[in-house]
Amino acid sequence: MRAALAPYAASDEQSRGRRFAEPAPHYRSQFQRDRDRIVHSGAFRRLEYKTQVFVNHEGDMFRTRLTHSIEVAQIGRAVARALSLQEDLTEAISLAHDLGHTPFGHAGQDALNRCMKEHGGFEHNLQSLRVVDQLEERYAGFDGLNLTFETREGILKHCSRGNAAQLGELGERFIHGWQPGLEAQIANIADAIAYNNHDVDDGLRAGLITVAQLREVELFATAYDEVMRQHPGLTGRRLIHEIIRRMINRQVVDLLQHSEYLLATASPRTIDEVRKHGAPLIAFSGPMEAAHRALKQFLHEQLYRHFRVHRMSMKAQRMVYELYEAFFADLRLLPSDYQQRAAALEHDLGISGRARAVADYIAGMTDRFAIVEHQKLFSPSELT
Ligand code: MG
Repeated sequence: MRAALAPYAASDEQSRGRRFAEPAPHYRSQFQRDRDRIVHSGAFRRLEYKTQVFVNHEGDMFRTRLTHSIEVAQIGRAVARALSLQEDLTEAISLAHDLGHTPFGHAGQDALNRCMKEHGGFEHNLQSLRVVDQLEERYAGFDGLNLTFETREGILKHCSRGNAAQLGELGERFIHGWQPGLEAQIANIADAIAYNNHDVDDGLRAGLITVAQLREVELFATAYDEVMRQHPGLTGRRLIHEIIRRMINRQVVDLLQHSEYLLATASPRTIDEVRKHGAPLIAFSGPMEAAHRALKQFLHEQLYRHFRVHRMSMKAQRMVYELYEAFFADLRLLPSDYQQRAAALEHDLGISGRARAVADYIAGMTDRFAIVEHQKLFSPSELT
Protein backbone atom coordinates (compact mmCIF):
# COMPACT_ATOMS: atom_id res chain seq x y z
CA MET A 1 0.00 0.00 0.00
CA ARG A 2 1.26 3.43 -0.89
CA ALA A 3 0.71 6.33 1.44
CA ALA A 4 -1.90 8.86 0.36
CA LEU A 5 -0.55 11.65 -1.79
CA ALA A 6 0.28 14.98 -0.20
CA PRO A 7 -2.29 17.71 -1.02
CA TYR A 8 0.36 19.60 -3.04
CA ALA A 9 1.28 16.56 -5.15
CA ALA A 10 0.29 16.44 -8.81
CA SER A 11 -2.87 14.38 -9.26
CA ASP A 12 -5.14 13.27 -12.07
CA GLU A 13 -7.93 15.38 -10.59
CA GLN A 14 -5.88 18.59 -10.49
CA SER A 15 -4.04 17.98 -13.78
CA ARG A 16 -4.13 20.79 -16.30
CA GLY A 17 -4.72 18.09 -18.87
CA ARG A 18 -3.55 17.24 -22.38
CA ARG A 19 -3.49 19.49 -25.40
CA PHE A 20 -5.85 17.15 -27.25
CA ALA A 21 -8.68 15.72 -25.14
CA GLU A 22 -8.62 11.92 -24.78
CA PRO A 23 -10.74 9.52 -22.72
CA ALA A 24 -9.17 8.84 -19.33
CA PRO A 25 -7.18 5.60 -19.08
CA HIS A 26 -9.02 2.66 -17.44
CA TYR A 27 -6.38 0.96 -15.34
CA ARG A 28 -3.65 3.53 -15.16
CA SER A 29 -3.28 7.06 -13.90
CA GLN A 30 -2.74 9.87 -16.42
CA PHE A 31 0.91 10.01 -15.41
CA GLN A 32 1.38 6.27 -15.84
CA ARG A 33 0.02 6.73 -19.34
CA ASP A 34 2.58 9.50 -19.95
CA ARG A 35 5.38 7.29 -18.65
CA ASP A 36 4.24 4.40 -20.87
CA ARG A 37 4.06 6.61 -23.96
CA ILE A 38 7.59 7.83 -23.31
CA VAL A 39 8.96 4.30 -22.88
CA HIS A 40 7.36 3.24 -26.19
CA SER A 41 8.65 6.25 -28.13
CA GLY A 42 11.36 6.02 -30.76
CA ALA A 43 13.33 8.86 -29.16
CA PHE A 44 13.53 6.88 -25.91
CA ARG A 45 15.04 3.84 -27.64
CA ARG A 46 17.64 6.04 -29.31
CA LEU A 47 18.93 7.16 -25.89
CA GLU A 48 20.70 3.80 -25.76
CA TYR A 49 23.21 4.96 -28.35
CA LYS A 50 23.67 8.54 -27.26
CA THR A 51 26.63 9.77 -25.26
CA GLN A 52 26.55 10.85 -21.67
CA VAL A 53 30.26 11.69 -21.40
CA PHE A 54 31.89 8.83 -23.26
CA VAL A 55 31.01 8.22 -26.89
CA ASN A 56 29.15 4.98 -27.34
CA HIS A 57 31.93 3.04 -29.05
CA GLU A 58 34.47 3.85 -26.30
CA GLY A 59 33.23 0.98 -24.17
CA ASP A 60 30.18 -1.03 -23.20
CA MET A 61 30.39 -0.31 -19.47
CA PHE A 62 29.93 3.47 -19.57
CA ARG A 63 26.65 5.24 -18.99
CA THR A 64 24.62 6.15 -22.00
CA ARG A 65 21.70 8.58 -21.99
CA LEU A 66 19.41 5.60 -21.53
CA THR A 67 21.05 4.16 -18.44
CA HIS A 68 21.52 7.70 -17.13
CA SER A 69 17.79 8.36 -17.53
CA ILE A 70 16.95 5.12 -15.71
CA GLU A 71 19.24 6.12 -12.84
CA VAL A 72 17.56 9.53 -12.67
CA ALA A 73 14.17 7.81 -12.55
CA GLN A 74 15.36 5.49 -9.78
CA ILE A 75 16.54 8.34 -7.57
CA GLY A 76 13.54 10.50 -8.47
CA ARG A 77 11.00 7.79 -7.68
CA ALA A 78 12.57 7.06 -4.31
CA VAL A 79 12.42 10.74 -3.34
CA ALA A 80 8.88 11.22 -4.69
CA ARG A 81 7.55 8.22 -2.81
CA ALA A 82 9.25 9.21 0.44
CA LEU A 83 7.67 12.69 0.21
CA SER A 84 4.20 11.31 -0.71
CA LEU A 85 4.43 12.91 -4.13
CA GLN A 86 3.38 11.58 -7.54
CA GLU A 87 5.95 8.87 -8.27
CA ASP A 88 4.65 8.08 -11.77
CA LEU A 89 4.95 11.71 -12.84
CA THR A 90 8.49 11.93 -11.46
CA GLU A 91 9.37 8.79 -13.38
CA ALA A 92 7.83 10.10 -16.61
CA ILE A 93 9.74 13.38 -16.39
CA SER A 94 12.99 11.59 -15.49
CA LEU A 95 12.74 9.17 -18.41
CA ALA A 96 11.91 11.96 -20.85
CA HIS A 97 14.25 14.69 -19.65
CA ASP A 98 17.04 13.94 -22.15
CA LEU A 99 14.94 12.88 -25.17
CA GLY A 100 16.00 16.00 -27.06
CA HIS A 101 19.71 15.51 -26.57
CA THR A 102 21.90 15.56 -29.65
CA PRO A 103 24.45 12.85 -30.39
CA PHE A 104 27.80 13.32 -28.59
CA GLY A 105 26.45 14.87 -25.41
CA HIS A 106 27.15 18.49 -24.61
CA ALA A 107 29.71 18.80 -27.39
CA GLY A 108 27.01 17.96 -29.92
CA GLN A 109 24.51 20.30 -28.34
CA ASP A 110 27.00 23.22 -28.25
CA ALA A 111 27.87 22.67 -31.90
CA LEU A 112 24.25 22.53 -32.98
CA ASN A 113 23.45 25.61 -30.92
CA ARG A 114 26.19 27.50 -32.74
CA CYS A 115 24.92 26.29 -36.12
CA MET A 116 21.44 27.54 -35.18
CA LYS A 117 22.60 30.92 -33.84
CA GLU A 118 20.79 32.93 -36.52
CA HIS A 119 17.72 30.70 -36.31
CA GLY A 120 16.66 30.73 -32.68
CA GLY A 121 19.47 28.54 -31.31
CA PHE A 122 19.25 24.98 -30.06
CA GLU A 123 18.36 24.14 -26.45
CA HIS A 124 18.17 20.47 -25.53
CA ASN A 125 15.39 20.98 -22.97
CA LEU A 126 13.27 22.72 -25.54
CA GLN A 127 14.12 19.97 -28.01
CA SER A 128 12.94 17.32 -25.52
CA LEU A 129 9.62 19.15 -25.43
CA ARG A 130 9.62 19.36 -29.23
CA VAL A 131 10.11 15.59 -29.40
CA VAL A 132 7.13 14.83 -27.17
CA ASP A 133 4.93 17.63 -28.57
CA GLN A 134 5.67 17.42 -32.27
CA LEU A 135 8.33 15.09 -33.59
CA GLU A 136 7.14 11.66 -32.48
CA GLU A 137 4.77 10.29 -35.11
CA ARG A 138 2.71 7.57 -33.47
CA TYR A 139 -0.91 8.62 -33.16
CA ALA A 140 -3.60 9.06 -35.77
CA GLY A 141 -5.12 12.13 -34.17
CA PHE A 142 -2.13 14.30 -33.25
CA ASP A 143 1.60 14.87 -33.59
CA GLY A 144 3.78 13.98 -30.62
CA LEU A 145 2.73 12.01 -27.54
CA ASN A 146 0.04 14.38 -26.22
CA LEU A 147 1.42 14.26 -22.66
CA THR A 148 -0.13 16.02 -19.66
CA PHE A 149 0.77 19.60 -18.84
CA GLU A 150 2.60 18.43 -15.70
CA THR A 151 4.94 16.10 -17.59
CA ARG A 152 5.62 18.73 -20.26
CA GLU A 153 6.22 21.33 -17.55
CA GLY A 154 8.82 19.05 -15.99
CA ILE A 155 10.55 18.25 -19.27
CA LEU A 156 11.06 21.95 -19.97
CA LYS A 157 13.64 22.40 -17.21
CA HIS A 158 15.24 25.53 -18.66
CA CYS A 159 14.11 27.86 -21.35
CA SER A 160 15.29 31.26 -22.57
CA ARG A 161 12.79 34.10 -22.14
CA GLY A 162 12.54 34.58 -25.88
CA ASN A 163 11.50 30.99 -26.44
CA ALA A 164 9.30 30.97 -23.33
CA ALA A 165 7.24 33.83 -24.75
CA GLN A 166 6.24 31.57 -27.64
CA LEU A 167 5.21 28.62 -25.49
CA GLY A 168 1.94 29.93 -24.05
CA GLU A 169 1.03 28.68 -20.56
CA LEU A 170 4.00 26.30 -20.49
CA GLY A 171 6.44 29.20 -20.90
CA GLU A 172 4.76 31.45 -18.32
CA ARG A 173 6.88 30.39 -15.40
CA PHE A 174 10.14 31.44 -17.07
CA ILE A 175 8.70 34.91 -17.59
CA HIS A 176 7.20 35.26 -14.09
CA GLY A 177 9.88 33.38 -12.15
CA TRP A 178 7.46 30.68 -11.00
CA GLN A 179 8.45 27.12 -10.09
CA PRO A 180 7.37 23.86 -11.67
CA GLY A 181 5.54 21.22 -9.58
CA LEU A 182 7.50 19.31 -6.94
CA GLU A 183 7.78 16.19 -9.11
CA ALA A 184 9.61 18.26 -11.73
CA GLN A 185 11.83 19.78 -9.04
CA ILE A 186 12.72 16.26 -7.90
CA ALA A 187 13.56 15.06 -11.42
CA ASN A 188 15.79 18.10 -11.85
CA ILE A 189 17.90 17.37 -8.75
CA ALA A 190 17.81 13.60 -9.34
CA ASP A 191 19.43 14.33 -12.71
CA ALA A 192 22.29 16.18 -11.03
CA ILE A 193 22.74 13.51 -8.33
CA ALA A 194 22.79 10.78 -10.98
CA TYR A 195 25.32 12.34 -13.33
CA ASN A 196 27.66 13.67 -10.66
CA ASN A 197 27.99 10.24 -9.11
CA HIS A 198 28.00 8.10 -12.23
CA ASP A 199 30.53 10.38 -13.89
CA VAL A 200 32.86 9.72 -10.94
CA ASP A 201 32.36 6.00 -11.56
CA ASP A 202 32.83 6.25 -15.34
CA GLY A 203 35.76 8.63 -15.00
CA LEU A 204 37.55 6.22 -12.65
CA ARG A 205 36.76 3.28 -14.91
CA ALA A 206 38.20 5.13 -17.90
CA GLY A 207 41.32 6.02 -15.89
CA LEU A 208 40.84 9.74 -16.52
CA ILE A 209 40.56 10.59 -12.82
CA THR A 210 41.99 8.83 -9.77
CA VAL A 211 40.90 7.97 -6.23
CA ALA A 212 43.80 10.08 -4.92
CA GLN A 213 42.50 13.15 -6.77
CA LEU A 214 38.95 12.53 -5.64
CA ARG A 215 40.00 12.37 -1.99
CA GLU A 216 40.41 16.16 -2.25
CA VAL A 217 36.63 16.38 -2.78
CA GLU A 218 34.63 16.38 0.47
CA LEU A 219 31.70 14.20 -0.67
CA PHE A 220 34.04 11.52 -1.95
CA ALA A 221 36.54 11.80 0.93
CA THR A 222 33.89 11.37 3.64
CA ALA A 223 32.52 8.26 1.97
CA TYR A 224 36.03 6.94 1.32
CA ASP A 225 37.01 7.32 4.99
CA GLU A 226 33.84 5.57 6.14
CA VAL A 227 34.43 2.62 3.79
CA MET A 228 38.03 2.35 4.94
CA ARG A 229 36.90 2.26 8.58
CA GLN A 230 34.31 -0.42 7.90
CA HIS A 231 36.26 -2.45 5.33
CA PRO A 232 40.00 -1.80 5.77
CA GLY A 233 42.00 -2.87 2.75
CA LEU A 234 39.07 -2.95 0.34
CA THR A 235 40.22 -2.13 -3.22
CA GLY A 236 39.10 -2.17 -6.84
CA ARG A 237 35.52 -2.06 -8.09
CA ARG A 238 34.00 -2.94 -4.70
CA LEU A 239 35.78 0.01 -3.09
CA ILE A 240 34.49 2.40 -5.77
CA HIS A 241 30.95 1.10 -5.50
CA GLU A 242 30.90 1.21 -1.70
CA ILE A 243 32.01 4.86 -1.93
CA ILE A 244 29.55 5.87 -4.61
CA ARG A 245 26.55 4.25 -2.95
CA ARG A 246 27.35 6.20 0.21
CA MET A 247 27.70 9.42 -1.77
CA ILE A 248 24.32 8.94 -3.45
CA ASN A 249 22.66 7.93 -0.20
CA ARG A 250 24.02 10.94 1.69
CA GLN A 251 22.80 13.33 -1.00
CA VAL A 252 19.36 11.73 -1.21
CA VAL A 253 18.90 11.70 2.57
CA ASP A 254 19.95 15.34 2.79
CA LEU A 255 17.60 16.23 -0.05
CA LEU A 256 14.71 14.45 1.66
CA GLN A 257 15.31 15.99 5.06
CA HIS A 258 15.84 19.51 3.81
CA SER A 259 12.85 19.33 1.45
CA GLU A 260 10.65 18.07 4.29
CA TYR A 261 11.75 21.09 6.31
CA LEU A 262 11.09 23.49 3.41
CA LEU A 263 7.66 21.99 2.76
CA ALA A 264 6.73 22.12 6.45
CA THR A 265 7.81 25.77 6.64
CA ALA A 266 6.10 26.93 3.44
CA SER A 267 3.14 24.56 3.93
CA PRO A 268 1.67 24.90 0.43
CA ARG A 269 -1.90 23.61 0.12
CA THR A 270 -1.98 22.94 -3.61
CA ILE A 271 0.34 22.40 -6.56
CA ASP A 272 -0.43 25.95 -7.69
CA GLU A 273 0.86 27.30 -4.38
CA VAL A 274 4.03 25.29 -5.01
CA ARG A 275 4.29 26.89 -8.46
CA LYS A 276 3.83 30.42 -7.13
CA HIS A 277 6.29 29.94 -4.26
CA GLY A 278 9.32 32.16 -4.77
CA ALA A 279 11.90 29.37 -4.64
CA PRO A 280 12.11 25.60 -5.13
CA LEU A 281 10.83 23.52 -2.21
CA ILE A 282 12.91 20.51 -3.21
CA ALA A 283 16.49 21.42 -2.38
CA PHE A 284 19.68 20.34 -0.65
CA SER A 285 20.69 21.93 2.64
CA GLY A 286 23.27 24.71 2.34
CA PRO A 287 26.27 22.53 3.27
CA MET A 288 25.20 19.74 0.90
CA GLU A 289 24.59 22.23 -1.90
CA ALA A 290 28.19 23.42 -1.43
CA ALA A 291 29.56 19.86 -1.36
CA HIS A 292 27.56 18.94 -4.44
CA ARG A 293 28.86 21.99 -6.27
CA ALA A 294 32.44 21.19 -5.32
CA LEU A 295 32.11 17.74 -6.86
CA LYS A 296 30.59 19.24 -9.99
CA GLN A 297 33.45 21.70 -10.23
CA PHE A 298 35.99 18.89 -9.84
CA LEU A 299 34.36 16.93 -12.66
CA HIS A 300 34.35 19.99 -14.90
CA GLU A 301 38.02 20.62 -14.40
CA GLN A 302 39.36 17.10 -14.24
CA LEU A 303 37.02 14.97 -16.34
CA TYR A 304 35.01 16.99 -18.86
CA ARG A 305 38.08 19.04 -19.79
CA HIS A 306 40.47 16.08 -19.83
CA PHE A 307 42.38 16.07 -23.09
CA ARG A 308 41.04 12.67 -24.11
CA VAL A 309 37.46 13.82 -23.58
CA HIS A 310 38.27 17.10 -25.31
CA ARG A 311 39.67 15.36 -28.38
CA MET A 312 36.50 13.33 -28.73
CA SER A 313 34.38 16.44 -28.18
CA MET A 314 36.27 18.33 -30.86
CA LYS A 315 35.80 15.53 -33.39
CA ALA A 316 32.12 15.30 -32.47
CA GLN A 317 31.62 19.03 -32.92
CA ARG A 318 33.31 18.98 -36.30
CA MET A 319 31.02 16.15 -37.40
CA VAL A 320 27.93 18.06 -36.28
CA TYR A 321 29.06 21.27 -38.05
CA GLU A 322 29.79 19.43 -41.25
CA LEU A 323 26.54 17.48 -41.21
CA TYR A 324 24.59 20.66 -40.57
CA GLU A 325 26.31 22.63 -43.31
CA ALA A 326 25.88 19.88 -45.87
CA PHE A 327 22.17 19.33 -45.16
CA PHE A 328 21.37 23.02 -44.85
CA ALA A 329 23.03 23.80 -48.19
CA ASP A 330 21.33 20.93 -49.99
CA LEU A 331 18.12 19.51 -48.54
CA ARG A 332 18.13 16.76 -51.17
CA LEU A 333 20.80 15.03 -49.08
CA LEU A 334 18.16 14.39 -46.40
CA PRO A 335 16.02 11.24 -46.42
CA SER A 336 12.80 11.97 -48.31
CA ASP A 337 10.46 12.27 -45.32
CA TYR A 338 12.82 14.84 -43.75
CA GLN A 339 13.01 16.69 -47.08
CA GLN A 340 9.25 17.03 -47.01
CA ARG A 341 9.25 18.20 -43.43
CA ALA A 342 12.02 20.71 -44.19
CA ALA A 343 10.10 22.05 -47.20
CA ALA A 344 6.97 22.44 -45.07
CA LEU A 345 8.85 24.21 -42.24
CA GLU A 346 10.64 26.46 -44.73
CA HIS A 347 7.30 27.32 -46.30
CA ASP A 348 5.88 28.30 -42.90
CA LEU A 349 8.89 29.90 -41.22
CA GLY A 350 11.30 30.83 -44.00
CA ILE A 351 14.98 30.00 -43.84
CA SER A 352 14.85 29.41 -40.06
CA GLY A 353 12.30 26.66 -40.70
CA ARG A 354 14.75 24.95 -43.02
CA ALA A 355 17.44 25.24 -40.33
CA ARG A 356 15.08 23.83 -37.67
CA ALA A 357 14.28 20.80 -39.80
CA VAL A 358 17.99 20.08 -40.26
CA ALA A 359 18.56 20.52 -36.50
CA ASP A 360 15.67 18.12 -35.77
CA TYR A 361 17.24 15.52 -38.05
CA ILE A 362 20.70 15.86 -36.51
CA ALA A 363 19.44 16.02 -32.92
CA GLY A 364 17.55 12.77 -33.45
CA MET A 365 20.71 10.90 -34.47
CA THR A 366 22.49 8.48 -32.18
CA ASP A 367 26.29 8.77 -31.91
CA ARG A 368 26.89 5.87 -34.22
CA PHE A 369 24.27 6.95 -36.74
CA ALA A 370 25.89 10.41 -36.89
CA ILE A 371 29.32 8.84 -37.44
CA VAL A 372 28.00 6.61 -40.24
CA GLU A 373 26.02 9.46 -41.81
CA HIS A 374 29.12 11.64 -41.74
CA GLN A 375 31.14 8.91 -43.46
CA LYS A 376 28.45 8.47 -46.10
CA LEU A 377 28.52 12.17 -46.89
CA PHE A 378 32.21 12.87 -46.68
CA SER A 379 34.19 9.69 -47.19
CA PRO A 380 35.07 9.01 -50.84
CA SER A 381 35.02 5.26 -50.22
CA GLU A 382 31.37 5.33 -49.14
CA LEU A 383 29.18 5.41 -52.20
CA THR A 384 25.68 5.43 -50.69
MG1 MG B 1 20.24 14.29 -17.70
